[in-house]
Amino acid sequence: MTRATNKVANRRNGATRRKIVRLWRRLPRMGGLCARRCTACNTVNYPAGPVCRKCGGRGLENARVATTGHLATYTLAQHGDGQAPTATGIIECDDGARLLCRLADFAPQRLRVGMRVRLVFRRMAIDTRGVPRYGHKAVPLSPDDHLAGMTE
Ligand SMILES: [Zn+2]
Repeated sequence: MTRATNKVANRRNGATRRKIVRLWRRLPRMGGLCARRCTACNTVNYPAGPVCRKCGGRGLENARVATTGHLATYTLAQHGDGQAPTATGIIECDDGARLLCRLADFAPQRLRVGMRVRLVFRRMAIDTRGVPRYGHKAVPLSPDDHLAGMTE
């Protein structure tokens, strides 16, 4: 193989890898944030169960959780060893789904209940074999609430 042929092959491999990552993110059990919407009362049930948590109805259809919402409550952990503070919160999505989520890119002094957030797909941790694990984190919608220097 020539160098030019290798470049083309690498580009194709990169494109294929990106497609696989996008597909993986949409898998229901991975990054899909798949819920079930009640056909009787329109409640978005997340995590999805066999019946609607509001009315007990069994008529449920597949739905995706809205990726914007607000911070319903949170816990801020300050670390004394110079590390940046971390936060975990309950996000109430615009469609009513509620989920426990870590926060990212936030300015600690700007964190508040009711703050508008957006769910993003981020690396959560790296396991003992060096394999990264991914999941959703909530980041502030307003650039004013972002940690200085963090922009998307
Ligand atoms: Zn219902």
